Amino acid sequence: MKYHILISFLILLIGCNNKQPIALPIDSDQENTTKPNIIIILTDDQGYADVGFNGCKDIPTPNIDRIANEGVKFTSGYVTYPVCGPSRAGLITGRYQSRFGFGRNPICDPDEPTFGLPLSEKTLATVLKSNGYKSIALGKWHLGTHETLHPLKRGFDEFFGFLSGGHQYFPELWTLNDISEIRSQFDGYNTKLLKNNTRIEEKEYLTDALSREAVTYIQENKDHPFFMYLAYNAPHTPMQATKKYLDRFPNIKDSKRKTYAAMISAVDDGVGTILDELHRLNLEENTLIFFLSDNGGPEEHNASDNGYLRGGKSDLFEGGIRVPFALQWKGHIPSGITYEKPISSLDIFATAVEVSNTDMTNNKKLDGVNLIPYVTHQKKDAPHDYLFWRKFDSQQYAVRDGNTHSKLILSKKTKGLYHLNDDIGEQNNLRQQELSEYETLNNLRKEWEKELIPPIFKPLKDHEQHFKNRNQKLNN
Ligand code: CA
Repeated sequence: MKYHILISFLILLIGCNNKQPIALPIDSDQENTTKPNIIIILTDDQGYADVGFNGCKDIPTPNIDRIANEGVKFTSGYVTYPVCGPSRAGLITGRYQSRFGFGRNPICDPDEPTFGLPLSEKTLATVLKSNGYKSIALGKWHLGTHETLHPLKRGFDEFFGFLSGGHQYFPELWTLNDISEIRSQFDGYNTKLLKNNTRIEEKEYLTDALSREAVTYIQENKDHPFFMYLAYNAPHTPMQATKKYLDRFPNIKDSKRKTYAAMISAVDDGVGTILDELHRLNLEENTLIFFLSDNGGPEEHNASDNGYLRGGKSDLFEGGIRVPFALQWKGHIPSGITYEKPISSLDIFATAVEVSNTDMTNNKKLDGVNLIPYVTHQKKDAPHDYLFWRKFDSQQYAVRDGNTHSKLILSKKTKGLYHLNDDIGEQNNLRQQELSEYETLNNLRKEWEKELIPPIFKPLKDHEQHFKNRNQKLNN
Protein backbone atom coordinates (compact mmCIF):
# COMPACT_ATOMS: atom_id res chain seq x y z
CA MET A 1 0.00 0.00 0.00
CA LYS A 2 2.80 2.35 0.96
CA TYR A 3 4.50 1.62 -2.34
CA HIS A 4 1.35 2.55 -4.22
CA ILE A 5 1.20 5.89 -2.43
CA LEU A 6 4.89 6.47 -3.11
CA ILE A 7 4.50 5.64 -6.81
CA SER A 8 1.43 7.87 -7.10
CA PHE A 9 3.36 10.68 -5.43
CA LEU A 10 6.30 10.21 -7.82
CA ILE A 11 4.01 10.26 -10.87
CA LEU A 12 2.42 13.44 -9.58
CA LEU A 13 5.84 14.99 -9.01
CA ILE A 14 7.09 14.07 -12.48
CA GLY A 15 3.87 15.37 -14.01
CA CYS A 16 4.19 18.71 -12.21
CA ASN A 17 7.79 19.20 -13.22
CA ASN A 18 7.23 18.38 -16.85
CA LYS A 19 7.13 21.62 -18.82
CA GLN A 20 5.19 19.96 -21.62
CA PRO A 21 1.51 19.45 -20.84
CA ILE A 22 0.79 15.78 -20.21
CA ALA A 23 -0.86 14.25 -23.27
CA LEU A 24 -4.47 13.69 -22.42
CA PRO A 25 -6.88 11.57 -24.41
CA ILE A 26 -9.12 13.71 -26.60
CA ASP A 27 -12.33 13.93 -24.66
CA SER A 28 -14.53 14.76 -27.61
CA ASP A 29 -15.87 12.28 -30.13
CA GLN A 30 -14.09 13.96 -33.01
CA GLU A 31 -12.79 11.61 -35.63
CA ASN A 32 -9.54 13.22 -34.49
CA THR A 33 -6.39 13.17 -36.53
CA THR A 34 -7.87 11.62 -39.66
CA LYS A 35 -10.08 14.66 -40.13
CA PRO A 36 -8.54 17.65 -38.37
CA ASN A 37 -10.49 20.88 -38.13
CA ILE A 38 -9.43 23.63 -40.51
CA ILE A 39 -9.57 27.28 -39.44
CA ILE A 40 -8.60 30.14 -41.76
CA ILE A 41 -8.30 33.52 -40.08
CA LEU A 42 -8.10 36.15 -42.80
CA THR A 43 -7.58 39.83 -42.11
CA ASP A 44 -8.25 42.56 -44.66
CA ASP A 45 -5.59 45.02 -45.82
CA GLN A 46 -3.18 44.33 -42.95
CA GLY A 47 0.42 45.35 -43.63
CA TYR A 48 3.28 42.85 -43.77
CA ALA A 49 5.02 44.51 -40.82
CA ASP A 50 1.88 44.88 -38.68
CA VAL A 51 2.14 41.70 -36.64
CA GLY A 52 4.49 41.07 -33.76
CA PHE A 53 5.92 38.00 -35.48
CA ASN A 54 7.12 40.23 -38.33
CA GLY A 55 8.64 42.76 -35.98
CA CYS A 56 5.81 45.21 -35.31
CA LYS A 57 6.71 47.44 -32.37
CA ASP A 58 3.78 49.80 -31.79
CA ILE A 59 0.89 47.33 -32.08
CA PRO A 60 1.24 44.27 -29.84
CA THR A 61 -0.37 41.16 -31.36
CA PRO A 62 0.38 38.55 -28.69
CA ASN A 63 -2.43 36.22 -29.73
CA ILE A 64 -1.80 36.28 -33.47
CA ASP A 65 1.86 35.70 -32.56
CA ARG A 66 0.86 32.56 -30.65
CA ILE A 67 -0.05 30.96 -34.00
CA ALA A 68 3.43 31.69 -35.37
CA ASN A 69 5.21 30.83 -32.10
CA GLU A 70 3.41 27.53 -31.70
CA GLY A 71 3.70 26.72 -35.40
CA VAL A 72 5.41 28.19 -38.41
CA LYS A 73 5.94 31.74 -39.61
CA PHE A 74 6.16 32.10 -43.39
CA THR A 75 8.38 35.04 -44.31
CA SER A 76 7.54 34.70 -48.03
CA GLY A 77 3.83 33.97 -47.83
CA TYR A 78 1.98 35.31 -50.87
CA VAL A 79 -1.60 35.90 -51.90
CA THR A 80 -2.69 35.53 -55.52
CA TYR A 81 -3.80 39.10 -56.12
CA PRO A 82 -3.13 42.46 -54.46
CA VAL A 83 -6.79 43.35 -53.76
CA CYS A 84 -9.61 41.69 -51.84
CA GLY A 85 -12.01 39.90 -54.19
CA PRO A 86 -9.65 38.03 -56.54
CA SER A 87 -7.34 37.14 -53.63
CA ARG A 88 -10.26 35.50 -51.82
CA ALA A 89 -11.38 33.69 -54.99
CA GLY A 90 -7.91 32.14 -55.28
CA LEU A 91 -7.77 31.19 -51.62
CA ILE A 92 -11.22 29.59 -51.42
CA THR A 93 -10.83 27.53 -54.64
CA GLY A 94 -7.12 26.72 -54.39
CA ARG A 95 -6.79 27.81 -58.02
CA TYR A 96 -5.47 30.89 -59.77
CA GLN A 97 -8.61 33.00 -60.01
CA SER A 98 -7.90 34.10 -63.57
CA ARG A 99 -8.43 30.49 -64.65
CA PHE A 100 -12.14 31.17 -64.11
CA GLY A 101 -12.45 34.88 -64.81
CA PHE A 102 -12.20 36.42 -61.33
CA GLY A 103 -9.38 38.69 -62.46
CA ARG A 104 -10.68 41.90 -60.90
CA ASN A 105 -12.90 43.12 -58.06
CA PRO A 106 -16.63 42.72 -58.74
CA ILE A 107 -19.31 45.40 -58.52
CA CYS A 108 -21.71 44.81 -55.65
CA ASP A 109 -25.04 44.06 -57.37
CA PRO A 110 -27.42 41.43 -55.97
CA ASP A 111 -29.23 41.17 -59.31
CA GLU A 112 -26.16 40.00 -61.22
CA PRO A 113 -25.48 36.25 -61.08
CA THR A 114 -22.13 36.55 -62.87
CA PHE A 115 -20.63 39.21 -60.57
CA GLY A 116 -18.74 36.79 -58.35
CA LEU A 117 -17.30 33.30 -58.03
CA PRO A 118 -18.62 31.28 -61.01
CA LEU A 119 -20.64 28.15 -60.25
CA SER A 120 -18.13 26.12 -62.27
CA GLU A 121 -15.78 26.34 -59.27
CA LYS A 122 -15.90 24.44 -55.99
CA THR A 123 -14.97 26.10 -52.72
CA LEU A 124 -12.96 24.41 -50.00
CA ALA A 125 -16.22 24.15 -48.04
CA THR A 126 -17.88 22.15 -50.84
CA VAL A 127 -14.97 19.77 -51.13
CA LEU A 128 -14.61 19.21 -47.37
CA LYS A 129 -18.36 18.69 -47.06
CA SER A 130 -18.00 15.71 -49.41
CA ASN A 131 -15.69 14.29 -46.73
CA GLY A 132 -18.14 14.82 -43.89
CA TYR A 133 -17.05 18.24 -42.65
CA LYS A 134 -19.38 20.93 -41.35
CA SER A 135 -18.48 24.52 -42.15
CA ILE A 136 -19.11 28.17 -41.45
CA ALA A 137 -18.16 31.39 -43.24
CA LEU A 138 -17.85 34.37 -40.92
CA GLY A 139 -17.39 38.02 -41.88
CA LYS A 140 -16.71 39.38 -45.33
CA TRP A 141 -17.77 37.31 -48.33
CA HIS A 142 -17.02 39.44 -51.43
CA LEU A 143 -17.46 36.48 -53.78
CA GLY A 144 -20.82 37.63 -55.15
CA THR A 145 -24.03 39.11 -53.79
CA HIS A 146 -26.54 37.34 -56.05
CA GLU A 147 -28.60 34.73 -54.21
CA THR A 148 -26.98 31.91 -56.21
CA LEU A 149 -23.53 33.03 -54.98
CA HIS A 150 -24.44 33.19 -51.28
CA PRO A 151 -22.07 31.25 -48.96
CA LEU A 152 -24.85 28.73 -48.18
CA LYS A 153 -25.00 27.95 -51.91
CA ARG A 154 -21.21 27.59 -52.07
CA GLY A 155 -20.73 24.71 -49.69
CA PHE A 156 -21.00 26.42 -46.31
CA ASP A 157 -23.54 25.11 -43.79
CA GLU A 158 -23.65 28.37 -41.87
CA PHE A 159 -22.93 32.03 -42.52
CA PHE A 160 -22.63 35.05 -40.25
CA GLY A 161 -21.52 38.29 -41.85
CA PHE A 162 -22.05 40.40 -44.93
CA LEU A 163 -21.80 39.89 -48.67
CA SER A 164 -20.22 43.15 -49.86
CA GLY A 165 -16.54 44.06 -50.24
CA GLY A 166 -16.45 46.16 -47.07
CA HIS A 167 -18.60 47.14 -44.12
CA GLN A 168 -19.19 49.67 -41.37
CA TYR A 169 -18.08 48.45 -37.94
CA PHE A 170 -20.65 50.11 -35.66
CA PRO A 171 -24.18 48.63 -35.47
CA GLU A 172 -25.86 52.05 -35.51
CA LEU A 173 -24.54 52.49 -39.07
CA TRP A 174 -26.24 49.34 -40.35
CA THR A 175 -29.31 51.12 -41.66
CA LEU A 176 -30.31 48.99 -44.66
CA ASN A 177 -32.56 46.01 -44.09
CA ASP A 178 -31.26 44.14 -47.09
CA ILE A 179 -28.69 44.32 -49.86
CA SER A 180 -31.54 44.69 -52.36
CA GLU A 181 -31.94 48.24 -50.99
CA ILE A 182 -28.52 49.40 -52.16
CA ARG A 183 -28.41 52.19 -54.74
CA SER A 184 -24.63 52.60 -54.99
CA GLN A 185 -21.50 50.48 -54.67
CA PHE A 186 -20.74 51.51 -51.11
CA ASP A 187 -24.30 51.20 -49.77
CA GLY A 188 -23.35 47.57 -49.29
CA TYR A 189 -21.33 48.72 -46.27
CA ASN A 190 -24.52 49.73 -44.46
CA THR A 191 -26.58 46.55 -44.40
CA LYS A 192 -27.66 44.72 -41.28
CA LEU A 193 -25.65 41.53 -40.80
CA LEU A 194 -26.84 38.20 -42.13
CA LYS A 195 -27.14 35.07 -40.04
CA ASN A 196 -27.58 32.47 -42.75
CA ASN A 197 -30.41 34.02 -44.81
CA THR A 198 -31.86 36.23 -42.10
CA ARG A 199 -31.01 39.85 -41.35
CA ILE A 200 -30.35 40.27 -37.64
CA GLU A 201 -30.17 43.05 -35.05
CA GLU A 202 -26.54 42.76 -33.93
CA LYS A 203 -25.44 45.01 -31.08
CA GLU A 204 -21.67 44.50 -30.92
CA TYR A 205 -18.75 46.14 -32.69
CA LEU A 206 -18.34 44.05 -35.84
CA THR A 207 -14.95 42.52 -35.05
CA ASP A 208 -16.14 41.48 -31.58
CA ALA A 209 -19.34 39.97 -33.00
CA LEU A 210 -17.35 37.87 -35.50
CA SER A 211 -15.01 36.60 -32.77
CA ARG A 212 -17.95 35.75 -30.50
CA GLU A 213 -19.67 33.76 -33.25
CA ALA A 214 -16.42 31.95 -34.06
CA VAL A 215 -16.05 30.79 -30.44
CA THR A 216 -19.71 29.71 -30.31
CA TYR A 217 -19.27 27.71 -33.50
CA ILE A 218 -16.24 25.89 -32.07
CA GLN A 219 -18.19 25.02 -28.92
CA GLU A 220 -21.17 23.75 -30.89
CA ASN A 221 -19.06 21.68 -33.28
CA LYS A 222 -16.37 20.36 -30.97
CA ASP A 223 -17.48 16.79 -31.59
CA HIS A 224 -17.46 16.97 -35.37
CA PRO A 225 -14.81 17.85 -37.98
CA PHE A 226 -15.33 21.45 -39.05
CA PHE A 227 -14.00 24.08 -41.42
CA MET A 228 -14.16 27.71 -40.32
CA TYR A 229 -13.47 30.55 -42.73
CA LEU A 230 -13.20 33.61 -40.50
CA ALA A 231 -12.79 36.66 -42.72
CA TYR A 232 -12.44 39.71 -40.50
CA ASN A 233 -12.93 42.96 -42.43
CA ALA A 234 -10.51 44.71 -40.09
CA PRO A 235 -8.35 46.67 -40.68
CA HIS A 236 -10.00 47.63 -44.01
CA THR A 237 -11.46 51.15 -44.21
CA PRO A 238 -13.62 52.79 -42.84
CA MET A 239 -11.31 53.36 -39.90
CA GLN A 240 -13.56 52.72 -36.91
CA ALA A 241 -12.70 51.40 -33.46
CA THR A 242 -14.25 51.43 -30.01
CA LYS A 243 -12.84 53.28 -27.00
CA LYS A 244 -11.88 49.98 -25.38
CA TYR A 245 -9.32 49.36 -28.11
CA LEU A 246 -8.34 52.98 -28.81
CA ASP A 247 -7.42 53.46 -25.14
CA ARG A 248 -4.72 50.82 -25.51
CA PHE A 249 -2.64 53.17 -27.68
CA PRO A 250 -2.13 56.45 -25.81
CA ASN A 251 1.36 56.74 -27.31
CA ILE A 252 0.33 56.63 -30.97
CA LYS A 253 -0.20 60.27 -31.95
CA ASP A 254 -1.24 59.82 -35.58
CA SER A 255 -4.99 59.34 -35.32
CA LYS A 256 -5.29 57.05 -38.34
CA ARG A 257 -2.48 54.80 -37.12
CA LYS A 258 -4.04 54.81 -33.66
CA THR A 259 -7.41 53.65 -35.04
CA TYR A 260 -5.66 51.08 -37.22
CA ALA A 261 -3.82 49.79 -34.15
CA ALA A 262 -7.10 49.56 -32.24
CA MET A 263 -8.73 47.62 -35.10
CA ILE A 264 -5.82 45.15 -35.18
CA SER A 265 -5.95 44.85 -31.41
CA ALA A 266 -9.63 43.89 -31.59
CA VAL A 267 -8.77 41.13 -34.06
CA ASP A 268 -5.95 40.00 -31.79
CA ASP A 269 -8.30 39.73 -28.82
CA GLY A 270 -10.67 37.67 -30.96
CA VAL A 271 -7.88 35.35 -32.07
CA GLY A 272 -7.01 34.93 -28.39
CA THR A 273 -10.55 33.84 -27.49
CA ILE A 274 -10.51 31.31 -30.34
CA LEU A 275 -7.13 29.86 -29.36
CA ASP A 276 -8.18 29.70 -25.71
CA GLU A 277 -11.37 27.86 -26.59
CA LEU A 278 -9.52 25.33 -28.74
CA HIS A 279 -7.15 24.77 -25.81
CA ARG A 280 -9.98 24.43 -23.29
CA LEU A 281 -11.74 21.86 -25.49
CA ASN A 282 -8.49 20.00 -26.08
CA LEU A 283 -8.79 20.51 -29.83
CA GLU A 284 -5.41 22.14 -30.53
CA GLU A 285 -3.74 19.00 -31.85
CA ASN A 286 -6.73 18.35 -34.01
CA THR A 287 -6.95 21.79 -35.62
CA LEU A 288 -4.92 23.54 -38.30
CA ILE A 289 -5.06 27.31 -37.96
CA PHE A 290 -3.96 29.49 -40.85
CA PHE A 291 -3.51 33.21 -40.32
CA LEU A 292 -2.96 35.66 -43.19
CA SER A 293 -4.00 38.99 -44.70
CA ASP A 294 -5.86 39.04 -48.04
CA ASN A 295 -3.39 41.54 -49.56
CA GLY A 296 -0.75 44.02 -48.51
CA GLY A 297 -1.50 47.19 -46.61
CA PRO A 298 -2.72 50.30 -48.42
CA GLU A 299 -0.43 52.44 -46.30
CA GLU A 300 -1.99 55.80 -47.25
CA HIS A 301 -5.55 54.70 -46.67
CA ASN A 302 -5.44 52.84 -43.38
CA ALA A 303 -2.00 53.76 -41.99
CA SER A 304 -0.79 50.18 -42.35
CA ASP A 305 2.92 49.40 -42.68
CA ASN A 306 4.47 46.96 -45.14
CA GLY A 307 7.90 47.52 -43.62
CA TYR A 308 10.82 47.26 -46.02
CA LEU A 309 8.64 45.96 -48.85
CA ARG A 310 8.03 48.18 -51.87
CA GLY A 311 4.49 49.30 -52.64
CA GLY A 312 1.24 48.14 -51.09
CA LYS A 313 -2.30 47.07 -51.85
CA SER A 314 -3.00 46.85 -55.59
CA ASP A 315 0.73 46.63 -56.47
CA LEU A 316 2.55 43.56 -57.72
CA PHE A 317 5.63 44.71 -55.86
CA GLU A 318 6.13 42.71 -52.68
CA GLY A 319 4.16 45.16 -50.55
CA GLY A 320 0.97 44.23 -52.39
CA ILE A 321 1.23 40.46 -52.41
CA ARG A 322 3.53 39.33 -49.58
CA VAL A 323 1.49 39.18 -46.37
CA PRO A 324 1.74 38.18 -42.72
CA PHE A 325 1.24 34.41 -42.87
CA ALA A 326 1.42 31.72 -40.16
CA LEU A 327 0.22 28.17 -39.54
CA GLN A 328 -0.25 26.25 -36.32
CA TRP A 329 -0.94 22.52 -35.98
CA LYS A 330 0.17 21.51 -32.55
CA GLY A 331 1.81 18.15 -32.21
CA HIS A 332 2.08 17.72 -35.98
CA ILE A 333 4.45 20.48 -37.06
CA PRO A 334 7.36 21.86 -35.06
CA SER A 335 6.76 25.01 -33.07
CA GLY A 336 8.52 28.33 -33.50
CA ILE A 337 9.98 27.71 -36.92
CA THR A 338 10.52 30.17 -39.74
CA TYR A 339 9.94 29.00 -43.28
CA GLU A 340 11.50 31.22 -45.93
CA LYS A 341 10.78 29.61 -49.29
CA PRO A 342 7.85 31.15 -51.19
CA ILE A 343 4.44 29.70 -50.38
CA SER A 344 0.97 30.83 -51.41
CA SER A 345 -2.57 31.21 -50.12
CA LEU A 346 -3.30 28.61 -52.83
CA ASP A 347 -1.56 26.08 -50.57
CA ILE A 348 -4.23 26.32 -47.87
CA PHE A 349 -6.76 24.39 -49.97
CA ALA A 350 -4.22 21.75 -51.02
CA THR A 351 -3.02 21.31 -47.43
CA ALA A 352 -6.56 21.01 -46.09
CA VAL A 353 -7.62 18.31 -48.53
CA GLU A 354 -4.40 16.32 -48.01
CA VAL A 355 -4.46 16.30 -44.23
CA SER A 356 -8.13 15.31 -44.24
CA ASN A 357 -7.67 12.63 -46.93
CA THR A 358 -10.38 14.24 -48.99
CA ASP A 359 -10.97 12.54 -52.33
CA MET A 360 -10.17 14.99 -55.14
CA THR A 361 -10.65 12.60 -58.07
CA ASN A 362 -13.56 14.51 -59.58
CA ASN A 363 -12.19 17.96 -58.94
CA LYS A 364 -10.25 20.39 -61.06
CA LYS A 365 -6.50 20.64 -60.76
CA LEU A 366 -5.30 22.65 -57.79
CA ASP A 367 -2.50 25.19 -58.05
CA GLY A 368 -1.27 24.81 -54.47
CA VAL A 369 0.70 22.16 -52.58
CA ASN A 370 0.38 20.48 -49.21
CA LEU A 371 2.63 22.55 -46.95
CA ILE A 372 3.03 20.02 -44.15
CA PRO A 373 5.95 17.98 -45.63
CA TYR A 374 7.79 21.25 -46.27
CA VAL A 375 7.44 22.70 -42.80
CA THR A 376 8.40 19.35 -41.27
CA HIS A 377 11.43 19.28 -43.63
CA GLN A 378 10.49 15.93 -45.12
CA LYS A 379 10.60 17.76 -48.43
CA LYS A 380 13.59 20.02 -48.87
CA ASP A 381 12.94 21.41 -52.34
CA ALA A 382 10.91 24.52 -53.09
CA PRO A 383 7.11 24.14 -52.73
CA HIS A 384 6.69 26.13 -55.96
CA ASP A 385 9.07 26.35 -58.86
CA TYR A 386 7.24 29.53 -59.85
CA LEU A 387 4.39 31.69 -58.62
CA PHE A 388 2.53 33.94 -61.06
CA TRP A 389 0.34 37.04 -60.91
CA ARG A 390 -1.72 38.88 -63.51
CA LYS A 391 -3.66 42.12 -63.24
CA PHE A 392 -5.72 41.92 -66.38
CA ASP A 393 -6.94 45.51 -66.58
CA SER A 394 -3.52 47.11 -66.36
CA GLN A 395 -1.73 44.22 -68.09
CA GLN A 396 0.65 43.86 -65.17
CA TYR A 397 2.43 40.64 -64.35
CA ALA A 398 4.80 39.21 -61.79
CA VAL A 399 6.68 35.92 -61.62
CA ARG A 400 8.47 34.72 -58.52
CA ASP A 401 11.09 32.01 -58.95
CA GLY A 402 10.67 29.73 -55.96
CA ASN A 403 14.23 28.45 -56.10
CA THR A 404 16.42 31.45 -56.83
CA HIS A 405 14.93 34.60 -55.25
CA SER A 406 14.43 36.14 -58.70
CA LYS A 407 11.30 38.08 -59.49
CA LEU A 408 10.01 39.52 -62.74
CA ILE A 409 7.76 42.57 -62.83
CA LEU A 410 6.13 43.57 -66.09
CA SER A 411 3.78 46.42 -66.87
CA LYS A 412 3.30 48.95 -69.65
CA LYS A 413 5.79 51.20 -67.86
CA THR A 414 8.22 48.77 -66.29
CA LYS A 415 10.21 45.72 -67.21
CA GLY A 416 11.96 44.67 -64.07
CA LEU A 417 14.04 41.83 -62.68
CA TYR A 418 14.90 41.85 -58.99
CA HIS A 419 16.95 39.53 -56.82
CA LEU A 420 15.00 39.55 -53.58
CA ASN A 421 17.68 37.86 -51.48
CA ASP A 422 19.75 41.04 -51.43
CA ASP A 423 17.14 43.52 -52.69
CA ILE A 424 13.91 42.85 -50.80
CA GLY A 425 12.83 46.44 -51.44
CA GLU A 426 12.95 45.90 -55.24
CA GLN A 427 15.11 48.95 -55.89
CA ASN A 428 17.77 47.53 -58.18
CA ASN A 429 16.45 46.53 -61.60
CA LEU A 430 18.80 43.87 -63.00
CA ARG A 431 17.02 43.23 -66.28
CA GLN A 432 19.82 44.62 -68.46
CA GLN A 433 22.48 42.56 -66.68
CA GLU A 434 20.35 39.40 -66.47
CA LEU A 435 18.49 39.54 -69.75
CA SER A 436 18.34 35.80 -70.32
CA GLU A 437 16.94 35.21 -66.86
CA TYR A 438 14.34 37.88 -67.50
CA GLU A 439 13.39 36.24 -70.80
CA THR A 440 13.11 32.82 -69.20
CA LEU A 441 10.68 34.10 -66.58
CA ASN A 442 8.75 36.09 -69.15
CA ASN A 443 8.36 33.03 -71.38
CA LEU A 444 7.06 31.01 -68.45
CA ARG A 445 4.61 33.83 -67.78
CA LYS A 446 3.36 33.66 -71.37
CA GLU A 447 2.86 29.89 -71.10
CA TRP A 448 0.95 30.31 -67.83
CA GLU A 449 -1.24 33.02 -69.32
CA LYS A 450 -2.45 30.63 -72.04
CA GLU A 451 -4.38 28.82 -69.30
CA LEU A 452 -6.21 31.97 -68.16
CA ILE A 453 -9.36 33.70 -69.33
CA PRO A 454 -10.36 37.38 -69.23
CA PRO A 455 -12.56 38.59 -66.36
CA ILE A 456 -16.18 37.42 -66.65
CA PHE A 457 -17.68 40.53 -65.05
CA LYS A 458 -17.20 44.23 -65.66
CA PRO A 459 -14.66 46.26 -63.71
CA LEU A 460 -15.32 47.89 -60.36
CA LYS A 461 -14.33 51.26 -61.82
CA ASP A 462 -17.59 51.20 -63.80
CA HIS A 463 -19.69 51.10 -60.64
CA GLU A 464 -21.07 54.65 -60.94
CA GLN A 465 -22.39 54.13 -64.45
CA HIS A 466 -23.61 50.67 -63.53
CA PHE A 467 -25.68 51.97 -60.61
CA LYS A 468 -26.95 54.90 -62.66
CA ASN A 469 -28.42 52.45 -65.16
CA ARG A 470 -29.61 50.09 -62.47
CA ASN A 471 -31.33 52.79 -60.46
CA GLN A 472 -33.05 54.14 -63.58
CA LYS A 473 -34.40 50.68 -64.28
CA LEU A 474 -35.59 50.29 -60.69
CA ASN A 475 -37.36 53.66 -60.82
CA ASN A 476 -39.26 52.84 -64.00
CA1 CA B 1 -8.19 43.48 -48.79
